[in-house]
Amino acid sequence: MKNNGCQHIQSIEEIKKPEAYVCEECRKSGSRWVHLRTCQTCGTTLCCDSSPGKHMTKHFHQTGHPVVISAEPREKWFYCYVDEAFNQY
Ligand SMILES: [Zn+2]
Ligand SMILES: [Zn+2]
Ligand SMILES: [Zn+2]
Repeated sequence: MKNNGCQHIQSIEEIKKPEAYVCEECRKSGSRWVHLRTCQTCGTTLCCDSSPGKHMTKHFHQTGHPVVISAEPREKWFYCYVDEAFNQY
């Protein structure tokens, strides 16, 4: 675990939880995902980099929203794309 002085994660006051355990982009295209991530800026839930679509990474490149959490119920961590920082909560 590393936290390269990430201010994005530290500034989060309330964690946005996934509203549904689906990647909307994968559902549209009919593809499968491996794990889900939830954007902490807009609350969108999309798939991880182990999934063929890599939709959360694309979301970051399109929007600049830096921080996601794992949407998996047993995982409790943040990830910041900008700083490549992980943090448990
Ligand atoms: Zn950061
Ligand atoms: Zn996806
Ligand atoms: Zn977002």
